[in-house]
Amino acid sequence: MTPRVVIAGMGDTGVLTAIKLARPVAPRCDVVGISAKPGLVSGQELGWRLARPDNWAKHNWIPFQRFRGLDRVRTVHGSLTGVDLAGRTVSVVLADGSSAPVAYDVLVIATGVTNGFWRRPTLQGTADIGADLRAPHEQLAAARSVIVVGGGAAAVSSAAHIATTWPGARVDLYFPGGRALVDHHPRTWDRVRRRLIDVGVALHPGHRAHLPDTFTGDTLTTEPVRWSTGQPPASADAVLWAIGRVRPNTGWLPPELLDEHGFVRVTPQLQAPSHPEVFAIGDVAATDPLRSSARNRADGLLAHNVRAAFAGKPLRRYRPPTRRWGSVLGIQPDGLEVFAPNGRAFRFPAWTFERVLMPWIVRRGMYRGIRSEGQTTRGSSALIRSSSRG
Ligand SMILES: Cc1cc2nc3c(=O)[nH]c(=O)nc-3n(C[C@H](O)[C@H](O)[C@H](O)COP(=O)(O)OP(=O)(O)OC[C@H]3O[C@@H](n4cnc5c(N)ncnc54)[C@H](O)[C@@H]3O)c2cc1C
Repeated sequence: MTPRVVIAGMGDTGVLTAIKLARPVAPRCDVVGISAKPGLVSGQELGWRLARPDNWAKHNWIPFQRFRGLDRVRTVHGSLTGVDLAGRTVSVVLADGSSAPVAYDVLVIATGVTNGFWRRPTLQGTADIGADLRAPHEQLAAARSVIVVGGGAAAVSSAAHIATTWPGARVDLYFPGGRALVDHHPRTWDRVRRRLIDVGVALHPGHRAHLPDTFTGDTLTTEPVRWSTGQPPASADAVLWAIGRVRPNTGWLPPELLDEHGFVRVTPQLQAPSHPEVFAIGDVAATDPLRSSARNRADGLLAHNVRAAFAGKPLRRYRPPTRRWGSVLGIQPDGLEVFAPNGRAFRFPAWTFERVLMPWIVRRGMYRGIRSEGQTTRGSSALIRSSSRG
């Protein structure tokens, strides 16, 4: 009988892993993907998402039925609520409130993290996702001044996109250290800092925000921001908190699978140490201090290891780089810059983004083809119906 792989969480890494495992090569796998969203709602590129949500959605919010590579994958739209490790089943609550166990031979945990208002594991349909994309954009569009709090890529890219999209607004970026992007190579910050200044972002190093007791990070706020580093409070029409307060989406898992911070413990082969039939990948997997397996495309390695485990062959090790790398500012009017771990930048000119990078490298190469809207083989209601089989 064909072994069944259940992918728990179909975000950036879950989708890529499902596509790889569904390929018709030996040993074949029956792949089931479980997701709180009816499609890929990427966790990437916050700045682009806030500033130009329609354009962001075109590339980053894609219903599952549009992925050709997922045609052999059964998707279940529901929330994972538990796992029975001995019985090898996960429990899923569907949108209609009913629940269904789903059996697995191998479980891949890819439920990611919760971060601010832009990455939440709530069970959502298309309309809710659209509303979540529009509301902060409209609030920012109406603001004459914006404070961004945070020193990571999400904060920096948001400040850049907001300043570029609404040049009439004052944009202030506050971060705690002497520089932002502390996990990137110093060269990366040097270059990004110049670009932020060029687009008019005012930089405020040495500011650590005091978090109010009521802080949830669930919305843009409007109250003055106080600093535990002693400076006078700062005010703006909208405050974006991008302070990297991520929480792993692992409330549905037993403590024996988790480390002391609630992330899934894994071996270098991406397996749970005490349960070799359980794998984890992406932001939820405690692979290394930066939890870098998503951006380093460990989906290929994980799919190889699942097949190798079924075939009794040796598994490969994940080797994380020590610095963050990748795009920081995302797509800008003059193109897309990608920073290597050594801080050197490689720039794709703007014209290549829509004509080469997205259609050929991302859609065709990475995702194995994405249908245009209206060109789908089955509607989302059919998907949700098919998902209620156990
Ligand atoms: C190809 C690629 C390129 C990247 N490039 C960069 C880059 O240039 N720069 C950079 O900084 N980063 C980059 N990243 C990394 C990226 O920022 C994040 O690390 C990535 O979005 C994390 O993916 P994930 O699958 O772990 O989480 P997510 O994409 O958040 O997916 C988790 C999914 O699980 C669902 N879920 C959670 N809990 C449940 C539940 N209980 N029941 C059901 N569903 C649930 C969530 O709703 C979500 O859909 C890249 C990642 C990839 C894959």
